[in-house]
Amino acid sequence: MNKVKSSNLGYPRIGENREWKKALEQFWGGKLEKEAFLKQVEEIRLQHLQKQKDKGIDLIPVGDFSLYDHILDTAVMFGLVPKRFKYDGGKVSLETYFDIARGTNGSVASEMTKWFNTNYHYIVPELDRAIPSLVENRPLQFYKEAKQKLGIDGKPVILGPVTFVKLSKGYKESEFHAVVDQFVPLYAEILRELQKEGVEWVQIDEPILSTTISKEEVALCKGVYRTLHEAAPNVKVILQTYFDSIEHFEDVISLPVQGIGLDFVHDHGENLIALKKHGFPKDKVLAAGIIDGRNIWRANLDDKLSTLAEITKVVSKDHLIVQPSSSLLHIPVTVKSEESLDEVLKEALSFADEKLYEVAVLTKGIQIGRDAIQEEMAASTKVIQTLNESSFRYNKQVREAIQKLPNYKVEREVPFHVRQKIQEEAFQLPLLPTTTIGSFPQTQEVRKQRLNWRKGELTDAEYEEYINAEIRKWIDIQEELGLDVFVHGEFERTDMVEYFGEKLAGFQFTKFGWVQSYGSRCVKPPLIYGDVSYQAPMTVKETVYAQSLTTKPVKGMLTGPITILNWSFVRDDISRYDVANQIALALRKEVETLEAHGIHMIQVDEPAIREGLPLKRENWESYLNAAVYAFKLATTSVRNDTQIHTHMCYSDFEEIIDAIKALDADVISIETSRSHGELIHAFEENTYDKGIGLGVYDIHSPRVPKLEELVRNVDRALQVLDPKLFWINPDCGLKTRGINETVDALKVMVEAAKQTREKLRTKHTINL
Ligand code: GLN
Ligand code: ZN
Repeated sequence: MNKVKSSNLGYPRIGENREWKKALEQFWGGKLEKEAFLKQVEEIRLQHLQKQKDKGIDLIPVGDFSLYDHILDTAVMFGLVPKRFKYDGGKVSLETYFDIARGTNGSVASEMTKWFNTNYHYIVPELDRAIPSLVENRPLQFYKEAKQKLGIDGKPVILGPVTFVKLSKGYKESEFHAVVDQFVPLYAEILRELQKEGVEWVQIDEPILSTTISKEEVALCKGVYRTLHEAAPNVKVILQTYFDSIEHFEDVISLPVQGIGLDFVHDHGENLIALKKHGFPKDKVLAAGIIDGRNIWRANLDDKLSTLAEITKVVSKDHLIVQPSSSLLHIPVTVKSEESLDEVLKEALSFADEKLYEVAVLTKGIQIGRDAIQEEMAASTKVIQTLNESSFRYNKQVREAIQKLPNYKVEREVPFHVRQKIQEEAFQLPLLPTTTIGSFPQTQEVRKQRLNWRKGELTDAEYEEYINAEIRKWIDIQEELGLDVFVHGEFERTDMVEYFGEKLAGFQFTKFGWVQSYGSRCVKPPLIYGDVSYQAPMTVKETVYAQSLTTKPVKGMLTGPITILNWSFVRDDISRYDVANQIALALRKEVETLEAHGIHMIQVDEPAIREGLPLKRENWESYLNAAVYAFKLATTSVRNDTQIHTHMCYSDFEEIIDAIKALDADVISIETSRSHGELIHAFEENTYDKGIGLGVYDIHSPRVPKLEELVRNVDRALQVLDPKLFWINPDCGLKTRGINETVDALKVMVEAAKQTREKLRTKHTINL
């Protein structure tokens, strides 16, 4: 190799117009035959490859495309199908693949968890002592496809064995090495077959190397990659890391592979420091992740080229690959179609396609020299400067408030046990109160009405009446079901972050800036580009209206500061924590306004706190402190008889339980049903002494749960949690579900609550 190469790590699946999502949903809905579906997704896949080629990328990833999730792809490639699904060996059928992801009538879906610190969810592989075997060589298949159909010599992308096993469940920690060893021969076989096919480069992702791992685990990698190299010596393996700097730098760069991929964007500068300090093996290629694969701002090419120049002091140009810092899965496809964005802002944006352009420009720059890309560099510098100087970046009042944060009260007036009495008195709820998480089904009709209103085909008054009618309908349903604490249903919201972003200053929205969240579900993160400030009440009208229809308490429903932060693309010219506090101050006003309008239960959702955890443990504390502070800044100015709820969507919260306690919320609802009661163990070790609802059924699947199941889930929880503090609720909001299945499921849930209350009562009598 005598030329600097450009590369990509992964490309968004969803398509410029979410064609991928639409195809999937039509197929699931029975509106698209399997053949036609497969044909459509093949076209999408090939089109994406061609596009990357046209952008001038040398090493084009193949096999990163997926029909749901690439971790699940890896699992089924090894024939790993949980026992509860139909499977008789051999290649896993498309139907079974989707069953694992989505559940069936009889079987719950596999658990879903966030991919490192992103908002992408992967399906957690269940190993459960199954013997893995290579039932299908997917990388090979996709390599061949690209070669035959497009003449592209792709770079197969494979999730590495160490990360794969680390992210799986169903084995004991002490078995980790042995389990990894089971997979090594299978990876070796994949590589052997790739070698036979003439594949030159393979990218093996081991992001686990960017987390806090032990020296022994790096040593394990050494054995694994030596075996893989021996199996296919002609294949050049790039061991790819991302999302942070690598631990044990010297050990990792000397692993027996031909290339190391490092993130030079999200590494807090550490990879570059380590590189300068320790040097880099002469016989290896460095794949330098220099363009931000996680955020959407245009790069200052001048700065980037300087960083590359620094790197080339250590690594010779013929051993350098220029690439994004991670897969582009986490950003939207193209800025091109964004016609209504403010020009200054639009110019400063860069999505996947534009990032590839930046990669290509930088590759040229480092190859030929600065002069060759003078124009491009000047353009990027100018655009960024114009953005930074624009008036929307800076709001004097907001900056002053941030300066004066120490003056704000961030503690409730009295501790929880005192508030608990006051609130019991005020709300008079039954034991094991039932509630939901906030949203009710966003039907086609709801979305259509909103669209019509946005297009101006519906007047504000008509739209408001429509929303009110939905609220009325669901207040009636909640009465009928016999729930204890109501919600208004969030019909006015497309998305829990977008909704607030549209009402706060400092946010902008793209039209097509979608990103995959899980399966076919996509989100459109807002852009926080200026100082955030409160403009007017955001949720008061709907909440107060809902409350006027019932004597049951209606929860006000807000999205928390850290979730708004983590689910947005955030400006990078000021600290993220300052942005979080700006949002928190605005929410604080909303909380106070709701309270002033007679709303005394207010839920502030923070489903994204955990996913924002830094990859390295040493950075957790400062992140969690900042998160807790922002939450309290938003929620603590209320009266003692106002009950603050929060909601989080994940089960592995054991590690952050202290931070969760520190939020000092009166009630927390938390997702658990997909992890089959694992959370319960966490509570055996940790007492939780505030109100808590462990989601009793999974809302990510269309399945209506069985009564016995729910009763069992509640019983199990009550073995470790105080019934006086326990709430009964689904896992998460219901907006993705159909109306009938929602009502049916909630009926079962309310019945489970009744039966358990009855049981507790009789147990109590017997005890007497
Ligand atoms: N209140 C939100 C809803 O019910 C919470 C969603 C979430 O946790 N992701 O939709
Ligand atoms: Zn949730």
